Amino acid sequence: MNLLVLGPQGAGKGTQAKRIAADYALPHVSTGDMFRAAIAAGTPLGKRVEPILAAGELVPDDLTVALIEERLAETDALDGFVLDGFPRNLAQAEALDAMFRKIHRSLDAVLFFDLPDDIATERMLKRAEQESRPDDTPDVIARRLAIYHEQTEPIVEHYRATGKLVPLHAERTVDEVYTEVQDALDALSGSAAA
Ligand code: AMP
Repeated sequence: MNLLVLGPQGAGKGTQAKRIAADYALPHVSTGDMFRAAIAAGTPLGKRVEPILAAGELVPDDLTVALIEERLAETDALDGFVLDGFPRNLAQAEALDAMFRKIHRSLDAVLFFDLPDDIATERMLKRAEQESRPDDTPDVIARRLAIYHEQTEPIVEHYRATGKLVPLHAERTVDEVYTEVQDALDALSGSAAA
């Protein structure tokens, strides 16, 4: 299964993505995690993106698209993946479409974890206390949510038009949301087998 998770920061999509990855034996491909790993390792990519992540801005598309193209070509991703944090804007969504056309693959479902802004902000501030992520300060949180609305939200309509969008209400508990995710994925694998 080729899956994509979409939604504002704080919607729990990373948590859901990890759970799906474990239960359905798919690699969890998170651009945010890949950038943070590069920063921790002090690679040239890490040095370049560190101030961008700290400010809550988006890493340039050319770097991000190249990273994802390489990652999805790795052996463990050939039978499927859970893509998390990419695409973040329409240009990236179009680059992903083009990438898939070239290799004759397509997305099976786009899980959209929707959440009102006030709850997203509250959850991110709470996470900031627990994890001390440098981009979870109140100013950067506000900037990341603004970018989400400006640049990432338009891709929801892009995927709705493909008929692959699965809208989910992410304000409920992790377990409640995950039950719905499983129902959607089981329906999908059922219809693929039929
Ligand atoms: P995340 O963990 O998905 O919230 O990502 C953390 C940060 O990594 C974001 O605030 C961006 O600075 C950067 N980032 C992650 N994914 C992308 C992407 N697809 N395009 C551009 N920047 C990204």
